[in-house]
Amino acid sequence: MFDNLSDKLDRAVKNLKGEGRISEINVATTVKEIRKALLDADVNFKIAKQITNEIREEALGSNVLTAVSPGQMFTKIVSDKLTDLMGGEMTPFRPTGTPAVVLIAGLQGSGKTTFTGKLGLRLKKQGKQVLLVACDVYRPAAIDQLETLGEQTGVEVYTERENKNPVEIAQNAIAHAKKTGKSMVIVDTAGRLAVDEQMMKEIEAVKQTIEPSETLFVVDSMTGQDAVNTAKTFNERLNFDGVVLTKLDGDTRGGAALSIRRVVEKPIKFISLGEKLENTLEEFHPDRMAQRILG
Ligand code: GDP
Repeated sequence: MFDNLSDKLDRAVKNLKGEGRISEINVATTVKEIRKALLDADVNFKIAKQITNEIREEALGSNVLTAVSPGQMFTKIVSDKLTDLMGGEMTPFRPTGTPAVVLIAGLQGSGKTTFTGKLGLRLKKQGKQVLLVACDVYRPAAIDQLETLGEQTGVEVYTERENKNPVEIAQNAIAHAKKTGKSMVIVDTAGRLAVDEQMMKEIEAVKQTIEPSETLFVVDSMTGQDAVNTAKTFNERLNFDGVVLTKLDGDTRGGAALSIRRVVEKPIKFISLGEKLENTLEEFHPDRMAQRILG
């Protein structure tokens, strides 16, 4: 049977409650259960270990040992810890500039183009004049996909199908946005199936030239540990501003959110919860994600 973190925690806490006096050994047993559960929720092994060590310190340092309800107190410590580790408060998405330029990066298949469409729709609904830019010079299908999203959302899409230079396309798009009075430009870039040098160099060059107000890294939450490694590599090269976690409508419990936040120390700004355009894009709330990881 599928056993989620709260079930495990309940069991572990019951063990605590069963004891007349709660000792360090009981705490250690509970913490071990928490670690196992974090691993099941897809939290990176090293990070799960660090977190549980911190939880142990906190539990031992607090009055959890003498609390009337040690179980509840333990659960609160874990939930607060996870929330804290994911940034505590929500980090709002507020790009600046005229127009405000947002660069979207990530591997092929991560959900970049879909997110670009969704973000365009969201900003349009907020009354912004939005331009989406197709900078994938390798896959005509990616340009078609963005154009379709533009048609579905009523947001203008800038393309240069014959131009193979993404830096030029992005520059021209921004000039076009200025001329046509756009307040937001969202630049979708080419991704590949795995991190490669040419892709990185290309996105770096685009970033250096257009100086976006925000660079968002899009990552598939279903890819587990790979998500963390990819985030690390992209961050080292791009020093991005925020993360978009996609495909959270699947059965992942979202441990990747915790691992990524911990490894790259950048806020998660959005989560994507489906292929459809409407009602599937949410701002990231650390406390809600902590609850989700807890099951
Ligand atoms: P890109 O290659 O990074 O631009 O990725 P796409 O935007 O083309 O998305 C790849 C696939 O994932 C497509 O089939 C999308 O419909 C799907 N997709 C994108 N975001 C989500 C999401 O949040 N949930 C689910 N279930 N599918 C998604």
